[in-house]
Amino acid sequence: MAISPSASDERDNPPLADNSLTEAELASSNSWFIHLRWMAAAGVLLAALFITTQMRVGFRPATIWGIGIWILLYNLGFFLVLRRYKSATRSPKDFRRLAYAQMSLDWLATTLLVHATGGIESPVTFFFIFHVVIASMLFSRQISFIFTGVAIALFTIVVLGEYFSLLAHYPLSALQNRAVHTDPLYLLAVLAFFSSTLLIVTYLVTSISESLRRHEAEVITLSESLRLSSARLQALNESAQVVNSTLELPQVLTRLVTNTARVMGVRACSIRLLDKTGKLLEPMAAYGLSQTYLGKGPIELQNSPLDRAVLQGPQLAPTVINIPDVHQSSLLQYPDWAVQEGISSLVSAPLIGKNRPLGILRAYSEDIDHFTADDEAFISAIAAQGSIAIENALTYQTIETLDATKAAFIRVFTHELRSPVSVIRSLLQTILSGYTSDVNPQQRDILERAIRRVDYLRKLIDDLLDLANGRVPQRAGELTAPIMLNGVVENVVHRYELPAREKSLTLEWRQAPDSASCPVRATVEGLDRILTNLVSNAIKYTLPGGKVTVSLSRSADEVCVTVEDTGIGIPDSLLPNLFEEFFRAPNAKELEREGTGLGLSIVRDTVNSFGGRVSVQSRLGVGSAFTVTLPLADIPAS
Ligand code: ADP
Repeated sequence: MAISPSASDERDNPPLADNSLTEAELASSNSWFIHLRWMAAAGVLLAALFITTQMRVGFRPATIWGIGIWILLYNLGFFLVLRRYKSATRSPKDFRRLAYAQMSLDWLATTLLVHATGGIESPVTFFFIFHVVIASMLFSRQISFIFTGVAIALFTIVVLGEYFSLLAHYPLSALQNRAVHTDPLYLLAVLAFFSSTLLIVTYLVTSISESLRRHEAEVITLSESLRLSSARLQALNESAQVVNSTLELPQVLTRLVTNTARVMGVRACSIRLLDKTGKLLEPMAAYGLSQTYLGKGPIELQNSPLDRAVLQGPQLAPTVINIPDVHQSSLLQYPDWAVQEGISSLVSAPLIGKNRPLGILRAYSEDIDHFTADDEAFISAIAAQGSIAIENALTYQTIETLDATKAAFIRVFTHELRSPVSVIRSLLQTILSGYTSDVNPQQRDILERAIRRVDYLRKLIDDLLDLANGRVPQRAGELTAPIMLNGVVENVVHRYELPAREKSLTLEWRQAPDSASCPVRATVEGLDRILTNLVSNAIKYTLPGGKVTVSLSRSADEVCVTVEDTGIGIPDSLLPNLFEEFFRAPNAKELEREGTGLGLSIVRDTVNSFGGRVSVQSRLGVGSAFTVTLPLADIPAS
């Protein structure tokens, strides 16, 4: 963004060069000038000494001494004034005046020196060039030429004054017998060359310094705009972090409006979202607006030219619309409301989701024509970022609704399907026990087969329910208290001690000494489900005489539970399919006819929902080892 000087600055100062010198620069040029002058005064005094002792000149050395001392004195004066200026806050105008005063007195001192050292013959004439260079470096071209003009005028006055004998002539050399100062041709030639030299030097130096100042101004403008861009980028980044730190829609929207108003430095900000029909824009969040203003309620897109323009754009492309003056705009549906609210300008950006427009983000200012092209780009970037956060929050809302539906479905499913199956089993069991009438061997066989099928059905229902449960993402609230994994593992191992013994298997529970306490963020039901499936599989797929070992170990931030067996193993080629729903390996089917093929899917989904992972190592005919790794939770200090 360009920095433009205020109108009063323009009036006070000549354009370009002087404006580009800041107060600090002017102060330092003034002191540089004073420094140089100490040396110049010393030079003049040394010259006076030299002339007094060594030279046979036609003029009085006392005059040179006098001029040298005068330069010293007025430089001391400038030195003191500048010191006072620096200690108080002075305007650039004051510093500039000081520089003009220094230049003017130097002009006078140089002219006196020229006069005192031979006028037209004086070698001091060359010193005017130094001053012309210094003036051209410090001042605008206009002022520099004025100073050059004054120098030429002063020199002309001296030489003409001496020519017409209005001023005394002090010849440079006492031995000189030719009075060149009365030779009109010589006079004319020196004056012409002196003037043109000064004018050319002024032109050259001001050209160079103007171009340097222009470049300097460009660099300042560029670095200012770079600083602004990086500040905005940082603001955008901060805003993204804040807005994306939650999935709750109301919070996302509130943070978005608050942050947008803050980082754009404006009075207010609002968000309207389209309803399901896509025709109504509902006010969802606002910052800095009165209840009266928000009382407009939902707006019909059809009736709001501004909102239509933002969401549909000129060629059905959503676009940012800047209204520099609400009093003048025909796009506003309720311009009077905005005026009453004290709003003078506003900028609106579309919020666009992946497949549809979501709504509008709007920033309001009390100033007319407040929003620049940079602001338009900035709000567009915020809106793009905000759209992602809003869409995520909307998706989360949908998932939450789906979860509720799923939970309700699971409850109904459990009751409506599980209960009749249990009833059928107990009725079959009743008949089998001979309670109704005697059961012949053929009937017994049929009944036993029917019971086995019903058991399978019940297991299938249980597994389907577990699978559904494992897929419900764990909500933050459910995982608040860390669970001690070792306790849950121990329970499951105890539960399977009898079935293992009945199958003549050794069931061993091995816990590493450092794993006595293993807090994890999970649910007891979920952990139980994981371990029950793994331990029951190990027992199921291990032949009598074999061994099942359950062990627990931990690292700094993770805990591993491994269920290892000396069972039938899994063919290498089938390992990648192991966790797919309904998958069963042929060797497992041979050993156990009944099986749902859902157990390992349940394990995988549940472990995933706790932020962990499951892996398997197996050799056909040798055994298998399933390892569940879970992140360790911090135990809150009590
Ligand atoms: P199910 O046990 O009902 O068949 P799972 O999903 O629990 O279903 O297991 C899927 C398949 O993985 C099993 O059919 C079997 O082929 C294999 N499997 C699981 N655990 C073991 C194990 N401990 N030893 C050998 N094979 C196993």
